[in-house]
Amino acid sequence: MAGRKDARHVSVATIKDDHNRILLIEDSPAMTMLLRQRMEEETGADVVCCDSLASARVCLQTQQFTLALTGLNLPDAPRGEIVGLLGDFGVPTIVFTAIFDPEARERYAEKKIIDYIVKDGKRTIETVLQTVSRILSNRAFTILVVDDARSARSGLVEILARQNFRVLEAHSGKQALEILEAEEIIDLVVTDYHMPDMDGYELTRRIRETRSSEEMRIVGVSSSNDRWLSASFLKAGACDFIYRPFVPEELQCRIDNNIETLKQIQRLRYLADRDYLTGLSNRRCFFEKTKQMEEARLPGQCSSVAILDIDHFKRINDTYGHEAGDRVLKMVADTLTEICAPAKHFAARLGGEEFALYLRNTDAFQAHSFCELIRQQIEELVMEVNKHEIAVTISIGVVETETGESFDNNLNAADQLLYLAKSNGRNRVYSTLTLPEAMAAAKSSAVAELF
Ligand code: GH3
Ligand code: MG
Ligand code: MG
Repeated sequence: MAGRKDARHVSVATIKDDHNRILLIEDSPAMTMLLRQRMEEETGADVVCCDSLASARVCLQTQQFTLALTGLNLPDAPRGEIVGLLGDFGVPTIVFTAIFDPEARERYAEKKIIDYIVKDGKRTIETVLQTVSRILSNRAFTILVVDDARSARSGLVEILARQNFRVLEAHSGKQALEILEAEEIIDLVVTDYHMPDMDGYELTRRIRETRSSEEMRIVGVSSSNDRWLSASFLKAGACDFIYRPFVPEELQCRIDNNIETLKQIQRLRYLADRDYLTGLSNRRCFFEKTKQMEEARLPGQCSSVAILDIDHFKRINDTYGHEAGDRVLKMVADTLTEICAPAKHFAARLGGEEFALYLRNTDAFQAHSFCELIRQQIEELVMEVNKHEIAVTISIGVVETETGESFDNNLNAADQLLYLAKSNGRNRVYSTLTLPEAMAAAKSSAVAELF
């Protein structure tokens, strides 16, 4: 579900929270300065710099590092001795080399380094940053490796774990499905084809019954000579296929591409669901999510829906300018987020100065008092915008959702109550509990017919 993905959406901010420390070993001061600044800016990690094997040794003896980024040849270690030192301290190492160096590839193959970057001009810095960010953010992704052969399985697990992924293992299709059932968040499954209980196709087909390729990537592997296998796997719903014996570097690139696709989908979904100004969910997301939540609602469980509208908002724009109006919208949205978060109620901006709330497990009485609390808190807010103190009020219409009634109709009822709240003086909450009072005030039989 979108909410679940939102919660672990990978961004630079997430990486920043991990307090990563990177050891940068480079003898060119200009390159060191540039890399340090960009890495600190873009990953939020602390970067410790050294320019020789000797100074790197001192750093390694006194500090822990998430990752090391090093040139292969240093003035006091011209034959790549630095890789051995970093290996002794167990620090995952990325090497960059001046030219394409078969030695770097060899060290990769020998599992001494986790990646290497060739300094090939303008794109070098960007490539370094992408690689470092990728390795750091891999921690947020879980890969399930499914293979009945223990040694094949552990070989794969080792390659993936070195790339900083969280890795789980299953020795059969059945166990894989059990893990998928129990573990909510698995991003990628690497599955063998030949397995005694269930082959890789069948497992892929079964996974695809509930999870799309937008949510979970599947990569097939097999040592079979059957050249049709890859097409069949892809048709069964896999995103990629690799024949064994594979070159680990190729496997890594393919896994990275699949994770990158997943990240891009998550990012696009996040942006598509968001209201740009306030950061709340937008109208489309509100309808989509509430539909899902309503469908998941168990018999006997209640929920409520509210529509909120800022009173005389146009005057704020007219008096203080549109920018001040924007700030007010943002502050109202932040207040809604803060009040809704503890109960996991769902707030969205429907458009303009209109917001909506979906209140879980909340009946008409609770919903009314919750909305009254919101009304009061907004009324008490004094927002300082461009040295002006601005106060706003909101009007709210709220109803308990009626089972059997379409969600649109429930929302429509909340909207009609909001209309009454507006026409009866604003800065008030109207619900079915206050309906008689509202009706008396409105003296509107036309509105009465709506209920
Ligand atoms: P009422 O109490 O009846 O709701 O009056 P109101 O002034 O709040 O409502 P009205 O619908 O007349 O005006 C809403 C204003 O909100 C008009 C529009 O320019 C402004 N608005 C809509 N979207 C934005 C926005 O994103 N930023 C700003 N600053 N203003 C916006
Ligand atoms: Mg308004
Ligand atoms: Mg309006």
